[in-house]
Amino acid sequence: MAPAGYRGRFAPSPTGPLHAGSLVAALASWLDARAHGGRWLVRMEDVDTPRCVPGADDTILAQLAACGLHADEPPIWQSSRGAHYQAALDRLVAGGMAYPCACSRKDIEQALLAGGHPRERHGELVYPGTCRQGLNGRPARAWRMRTEGAGLLHWTDRRLGPQQQDLEREVGDFVLRRADGLWAYQLAVVVDDAAQGITHVVRGEDLADNTARQVWLQQALGLSTPLYLHAPLVRGANGEKLSKQNGAAPLDTTEPLACLRAAGQVLGLSVSATTVDGWLAQATGAWAARETIG
Ligand code: GLU
Repeated sequence: MAPAGYRGRFAPSPTGPLHAGSLVAALASWLDARAHGGRWLVRMEDVDTPRCVPGADDTILAQLAACGLHADEPPIWQSSRGAHYQAALDRLVAGGMAYPCACSRKDIEQALLAGGHPRERHGELVYPGTCRQGLNGRPARAWRMRTEGAGLLHWTDRRLGPQQQDLEREVGDFVLRRADGLWAYQLAVVVDDAAQGITHVVRGEDLADNTARQVWLQQALGLSTPLYLHAPLVRGANGEKLSKQNGAAPLDTTEPLACLRAAGQVLGLSVSATTVDGWLAQATGAWAARETIG
């Protein structure tokens, strides 16, 4: 049964137009919201400004609209929300959960080597905690979240089932504000999911690995944890996840029904309707008829 007050969201990074993979995440989040009689919001995650493409936000909104996916509230842009991220960082620092870090990438590599076991995960270095005890007179570059004491963090995905991650060992103290002054995705997404009252997060499976960090941040900030569902990814011919980085073609929404059908197939929905509105209504019924997607 639907929890009262379901609020879901689609949170694209406007680094280019939607492609077939991002439509799957958009559609899954929209269907889940509609199937629960809830509200569906759109949030532009444009914190990583160097990667954002001017006008991509409008393109994405137009692509969603062409596919019949309309937000129930005006979209928000993360680039205008810096004061909220700063307030959250201040609270974490005051609570002893976040600290300034003076290390460059090279410093981190050296510290890891000196420790005898370079540690890397998905191409990212696992921070060895050099600045946990203080900067020793070096200037602060970034701000990091402590992971000591997180233990084995457990959360349950509605599709993937029980998940766990040893944050300190597998991820390390992660960045909240980057050396270039930009806000990190992890902090921005947690602050905004809470600010928008999001009860259900539905997004692509590639993001599942971030969830433990987000739950840890929610706990540190005294925020509630939404329910999570990570939807299947669309893979290219080489088996890799479709992404803007590996050149996925922009979604051609001159044929919205074809776009929806392709996305619906990835989600395992069989829908025969031949208009956009009819398709969405039927797909919502099909989504509601099963507990989750699998
Ligand atoms: N902005 C992220 C992306 O486009 C999605 C964030 C989220 O849904 O939590 O990959």
